[in-house]
Amino acid sequence: MKQDILSLSFDELSRSLEELGEKKFRATQIYQWIWTKRVRNFNEMSNLSQTLRDRLAETYFFQTVKIATPQKSSDGSCKFAFSLNDGNIVEGVLIPAKDRVTACISTQVGCGMQCTFCATASLGFTRNLSVGEITDQYFVMDSYAQQHMGNGISNIVYMGMGEPLMNYVAVTQSVARLIDPKTVGLAPSRITLSTSGIIKNIIKLADNGFPCNLAVSLHAPKDLLRTQLMPINKTNPIAKLSDALAYYHEKTNNRITIEYMLLKGVNDSLQNARDLAEFTKRFPVKINVIEFNPHKAASYQKSDRQALDAFVNFLKGLNLIVNVRYSKGRDIAAACGQLAAKHRKQN
Ligand code: SF4
Repeated sequence: MKQDILSLSFDELSRSLEELGEKKFRATQIYQWIWTKRVRNFNEMSNLSQTLRDRLAETYFFQTVKIATPQKSSDGSCKFAFSLNDGNIVEGVLIPAKDRVTACISTQVGCGMQCTFCATASLGFTRNLSVGEITDQYFVMDSYAQQHMGNGISNIVYMGMGEPLMNYVAVTQSVARLIDPKTVGLAPSRITLSTSGIIKNIIKLADNGFPCNLAVSLHAPKDLLRTQLMPINKTNPIAKLSDALAYYHEKTNNRITIEYMLLKGVNDSLQNARDLAEFTKRFPVKINVIEFNPHKAASYQKSDRQALDAFVNFLKGLNLIVNVRYSKGRDIAAACGQLAAKHRKQN
């Protein structure tokens, strides 16, 4: 059976090529073709003999993504529906700002976490993405950003479709590939992995010295409400999540980002803000208060401006670091999962 060459680290590729009877330096050449020159066809690897190119094509394949639909929003953000080799669709988003271009990438086809505010949740879980399918979203969007936004991608957030920590191996390997100086060489501080709070894998990240930023989608600071919004909270409750995050901070010394989406009349009261502040006492945090982007798959509304300001000002008054993330791409169905859902209906 052919192997996905994009899932191989440099050492794995070297070993695999040795087994094929190839010289060691071939691994360096091929790795450069794939990761530096971004070539996805063995025939284009012009410094390899035709016999070796044929051999590579018989042994390996590229598990990649293709852009099905780029959609540009009036606010500058651009959403991509990526089609996979098996016909499934996932999404990515490019968000340009003054000093950066951020790419939001997906880690699973659909998602099994069932968060009640999320459009992806309504698709259910189909399968995990491979290392190549995750990293290729970066490559495709980076080329687009260079051509159409004047700059390549500077930051990556693992915040698209899927729960990254339910695809632990491929996700951490894709991160390793993106920060490897032999490949893309992105600074670890420019990558953020966002989780709904899979405790055992937060601990695993801590034990493995995860070098990038960790964000946790909290959205409610108390169990009863959080379980309503995010059923994963039943098995990963807040007290244990707090223990895991304290452990993560102890091991990595990294500040944790708390994502908190404001839903009108649901989690946007001053008492909710007080409880959120209480939750953040055990480790240094940055809080991203996110404006909800309404969509058909959920009946929630976005909070009034007054409630948002009061919520944010309360937290700022406690000297917490708080950023407000206003929703982007409302005109292009940019809430995670909406574009893929549209494609499913069409096909
Ligand atoms: S919010 Fe994230 S974890 Fe929750 S269902 Fe949507 S994609 Fe999955």
